[in-house]
Amino acid sequence: MPPAPGQLTFSAPRRGKPPRHLADLTTEERAAAVAELGLPAFRAKQLSTHYFERLVTDPAQMTDLPAARRQDVVDALLPTLLTPVREMNADGGATRKMLWRLFDGALVESVLMKYTGRVTLCLSSQAGCGMNCPFCATGQAGLTRNLSTAEIVEQVVAAARSLAAEAGDAGPDGVERALRVSNVVFMGMGEALANYKAAIAAVRRMVSPAPEGLGMSARGITMSTVGLVPAIDKLAAEGIPMTLALSLHAPDDELRDELVPINTRWNVGEALDAARRYYEATGRRVSIEYALIRDVNDQAWRADKLGTELNRRGRGWVHVNPIPLNPTPGSRWTASDPQVERTFVERLRAHGIPTTVRDTRGRDIDGACGQLAASDLQQPLAGTPSTATGPAPVELGLPAPAAAD
Ligand code: SAH
Repeated sequence: MPPAPGQLTFSAPRRGKPPRHLADLTTEERAAAVAELGLPAFRAKQLSTHYFERLVTDPAQMTDLPAARRQDVVDALLPTLLTPVREMNADGGATRKMLWRLFDGALVESVLMKYTGRVTLCLSSQAGCGMNCPFCATGQAGLTRNLSTAEIVEQVVAAARSLAAEAGDAGPDGVERALRVSNVVFMGMGEALANYKAAIAAVRRMVSPAPEGLGMSARGITMSTVGLVPAIDKLAAEGIPMTLALSLHAPDDELRDELVPINTRWNVGEALDAARRYYEATGRRVSIEYALIRDVNDQAWRADKLGTELNRRGRGWVHVNPIPLNPTPGSRWTASDPQVERTFVERLRAHGIPTTVRDTRGRDIDGACGQLAASDLQQPLAGTPSTATGPAPVELGLPAPAAAD
């Protein structure tokens, strides 16, 4: 059932755990897991190298493992967690949305965006979301369940594999010469900080050096949140220099109570204070997300109020990312007028706040911010802006399942 307006859901319904996967486990736990299979601890390291470094899950390619045991090891520790349902391309192939089915039928999406010099994966941390922001498609369907650590990590590994596969001439192990996923943003479906344990463990797998993890730079990882204050403070204490993005969307409590219902629990002032503490603890400049909604939150006085609230907490600690609102089906809201957007940006800059309008990728495939609804079960609405403009979505053939790699 869709949530009532303003209703918040913190605990996900339990639906049975996804199968245990190598990426759920710490190094010690991996050693214990291979021991359970009657194998010496060093096999865990070999298996980790296959998965995290070579992105391989096919037992036939694990030639350093005893042939008779490869299949058992893979069955026990590398079960298929994500099954591709559909893949859609936009922006001339620079943006790709992947819809995945999880072991229990839940659906999640991730979006891969190629820029010059970097590749960003926008991933999901929950199936659905309990935060119920009225302008966000994901929020409207409510929370289905939390993802496991490995279900989050697998989205990165799948993206890395698909980049490696594109680098057609890259040789048998392919991976080194292919484009890498350089950035990960927790801006797909879900409120990652409401699934704290799994999300932070996934970040640890991403930043741990190979073969323990994917060896990514923490600086390339952005955790986006509606402003769960205690979780922001906990994140600041993890000692991982990732970027925090705070979805503010209004500088005043009256409007934010409506746009971001969690504001009734932790208000603008408390969220901004936590963001500032995050900066102090990590030295990482915080991003403030601000979806510009026509005649709702885009007034010049709100830009001024935002500038004042940020500067009240210091200088040089924050920048603002206005995002033109992406239309969601059935919503009465739309993006701000371009002139209004320009004025909003100029006002913030006049307060000395670095401000960059976020480039929205993937609108034509409902892959832009706030549009992820895993909607393959719904009929596309004829005549909605996302289908009426731009090229028609391209349906690709299903890629081979991960286990066949
Ligand atoms: N739960 C996290 C991640 C959500 S998605 C969070 O709230 O931060 C990432 C960003 O997209 C958030 O800032 C979210 O508020 C924003 N967003 C959601 N719906 C949107 C829409 N329709 N148009 C533009 N941005 C949107």
